[in-house]
Amino acid sequence: MPSCAHCDKNWNYMDTLKRSFRMKMKCPYCEEANYLSANSRKKSSMTSLILLPLILIGNIY
Ligand SMILES: [Zn+2]
Repeated sequence: MPSCAHCDKNWNYMDTLKRSFRMKMKCPYCEEANYLSANSRKKSSMTSLILLPLILIGNIY
């Protein structure tokens, strides 16, 4: 999970997922804007791709 560049708190999965659709991610703890590097964006979108179907399946059953 990514962490905030300002307050160093780790973001939970839902926070990251909600914010990963935007370039500018606002920290849920200190409200500062964070800019993800291309590498961490790639990593977090990969995680979303893997985990999103699991969440959907978990909601169905
Ligand atoms: Zn923060």
